[in-house]
Amino acid sequence: MLDNIPIIRGDGVVNGIVMDKAIVYNPGKISIPKIRLVPDRVSDEITRYKKALIDVKTQIELDQKSLIESIRESEADILQSHIMITRDPFFTEEVPQQIAQLRRNAEWIIMDRLNAVLDTFRNIDNIYLKERGRDIEDVSLRVIRRLTNQEGYALVRKLEGILVAKELIPSMIMYIDTDKIRGIVLEMGSETSHATILAKSLGIPVVIHAKGAVEKIESGERLIVDGDSGYVIPNPTKKFISEYKKIQNAYKKHQKTLAQASRLPAVTLDDVKITLNANIEIVPGAGLALHQGAEGVGLFRTELPFIIRNRLISEEEQYSIYKSLLKQFEKRPVTIRTLDIGGDKLLPFQESTPYLEANPFLGLRSIRISLLKPDIFRTQIRALLRASVHGRVKILLPMISSCEEMEKIIGIITEEKSELENLGIPFDKDVQIGAMIEIPSAALSADAIIMLCDFLSIGTNDLVQYTLAVDRTNENVAAYYIPENPAVLKLIHITASAAGKMGKPCAVCGELAGNTLFTPFFVGVGITELSMEPGLIPEVKKVVRNISKKHAARLAMELLAMKNVNRIKNTLKDFYAEVSGDIKARPGSSENTSSHYYSSGSSSPSSS
Ligand code: PEP
Ligand code: MG
Repeated sequence: MLDNIPIIRGDGVVNGIVMDKAIVYNPGKISIPKIRLVPDRVSDEITRYKKALIDVKTQIELDQKSLIESIRESEADILQSHIMITRDPFFTEEVPQQIAQLRRNAEWIIMDRLNAVLDTFRNIDNIYLKERGRDIEDVSLRVIRRLTNQEGYALVRKLEGILVAKELIPSMIMYIDTDKIRGIVLEMGSETSHATILAKSLGIPVVIHAKGAVEKIESGERLIVDGDSGYVIPNPTKKFISEYKKIQNAYKKHQKTLAQASRLPAVTLDDVKITLNANIEIVPGAGLALHQGAEGVGLFRTELPFIIRNRLISEEEQYSIYKSLLKQFEKRPVTIRTLDIGGDKLLPFQESTPYLEANPFLGLRSIRISLLKPDIFRTQIRALLRASVHGRVKILLPMISSCEEMEKIIGIITEEKSELENLGIPFDKDVQIGAMIEIPSAALSADAIIMLCDFLSIGTNDLVQYTLAVDRTNENVAAYYIPENPAVLKLIHITASAAGKMGKPCAVCGELAGNTLFTPFFVGVGITELSMEPGLIPEVKKVVRNISKKHAARLAMELLAMKNVNRIKNTLKDFYAEVSGDIKARPGSSENTSSHYYSSGSSSPSSS
C-alpha cells in the first residue's frame, strides 16, 4: 500500500499515530548586527552584555523550576547543565574581554565564537561531546536573542499541529504545549540527545532522522506521522487517510486492550508468577512505567544524570535523584545499577582514564572503572544506601566477570555500610545486591557468583556482544549479532538454573527481555523477572498469561537441543504465533474470557 506514496522514512522514537496539519519550523540563520565600538562605548556594551547573561540565567532557572514542579526532574537536569554553561569562563570572562579588546558588540563576539565551537564539535564522533556542543549553542542563542530583543521560543506555545523541523534544541521543547502540538518530525537527532529525551517525555509521537522533511513538507498541508514505523506521509490521498484511520483506530483499540491487560497479573496458565519490571533511565519515566503495569524497576541506568550534567555528581545530588525515584515507586522494588561507563558510554569527564582505548568494550569499562576509581564507586554506594530508607533499593553491579571481582566489590559495599552504621546514618540493612551476567565467564560461573549475592540479572545486550565477539554498536557486523545463537541460549539457561538451584531470582534486563518471541524461552528456563522498556510490558504480559510454565519448559529444552539458528528462530516464531492471540482467561476466575488454550499438559505446538 505504501509503495506509491512519497513517504519520508525516519526512525520512530515515540510510538503512536497522528494525523494533523504540518507546521514547518525553519528559522534559518539568526541575524545579528555587527557594530564596531568607539572606545567610550565599550564599558556600556559590557554592562549590556552582562545584564543579558543574567536575564538568560534567570530565565533558564525559571524554566527549570517549572519542569521540577511538573515532576520532570531529569529534564530539569538538562537545564542545570545550561545554567552551568552560563557560568563558563567563556561567558563570564572571555566575552567581556573580547568586547574590550576587539571593540565589537557582544552578539558579534558570541556568534564568531559559537561558529568556531560548532566547527570543532562537528568533527567529533563522541555523541556526548556533540551534545555538549548543542548545549553551548542553545545557551549562546538564548543570549543573542536576548541582546537583539528577538522573540524567544515562547512563540512555539502558539503553534498548533505537527511540528516539523531540522532539529530542536532543549530550550525550545520546553515551550511545547502538547494540547496543541500533536507530533514531532525531525531531520536530525539521536535517541540519546537531550532534545530527544525531552521530546520523549512529552508523550506524543516523535520521528527523528526524517531526511529532507523540512524541504518536502509544506506548512499547512496534511501529514500523517507514524511513531512506530517512523513513516511520515505528507499530503496523503483520501484513500490513504481512510486506510490510516483504520490503522489508527486499530492501534487505539490495541492500546486499550493492552491497558486493560496492564491491570491483570503476569502469571502463566499454570500460575507461575513472572515479575514484569521497567527499565528506566530518567526519573520521569516512572509515571509511564507504572501506567503500563510495571511492578517495579528492573534496571535504572545511572549514567544519564552524569552525562546530562557533564561531570561527576556529588553524593547529595545522587541521593536526591535516587530518593525521588524510590518515592515514585513507593514500596515496589527499584533496581539501581552502579555506573556503567566506558564502552559506548564514554563520558567527557573520564579524562583520568585512557580516553581512546583501542577496544573500549574490552577495556576500562563499568565495574573495572569502579575498582580503579573506588572513590567514585563509594560515593554512589553511600548515596544508594542512604536513599534505601525511602523505598526498596536493589543494587545491581554491571559487567561482573569473576567471583574475585564480585568479592572485592562486595567488600567495598560492606565497608561503606559499616561506615554509615558508625556514623549513625540510617539505611536498609537488608538491601539486596545482584550481579549482572553479561560476560560468558560470569554466566559459566553463575553458580559461584550467586552464592555471593541475592539475585542475578542477565544483560543480554552485552551477553550477545561478548559471546559472539560482535561490537554491539558497529553496523558493519550487525548481521553477526544473533541473540538466537545456541551458545547464547545455553548461557542464559546455565545462569537461570544456577539461581534457581539456590532459590534466588534471575532476571533478564537487556533488550531481549521485551522481545515477545523470547518470552516463552525465558519462562521455560526459569527466568523469574523480565525488565524492559515500559511500553513493551503489556505485550510481554499477554504472552506470559497465554502460556504454561510446563509447556514453555518443554519448548526451552527443545530449543537448547538445536544447533541451527534458523531452526531456533522458526521454532520461536511458530510458538509465538500460537500464543500471541487475545489474553486467555483462567478457568473459574472472574476474568472475562474463556479459553484454556495452552494450559499445562496440552501438546507442544512447536516442531523442532
Ligand atoms: C545489557 O547489556 O543487556 C544491559 C542491560 O546493559 P546496557 O545495555 O546498559 O549495557
Ligand atoms: Mg550491559
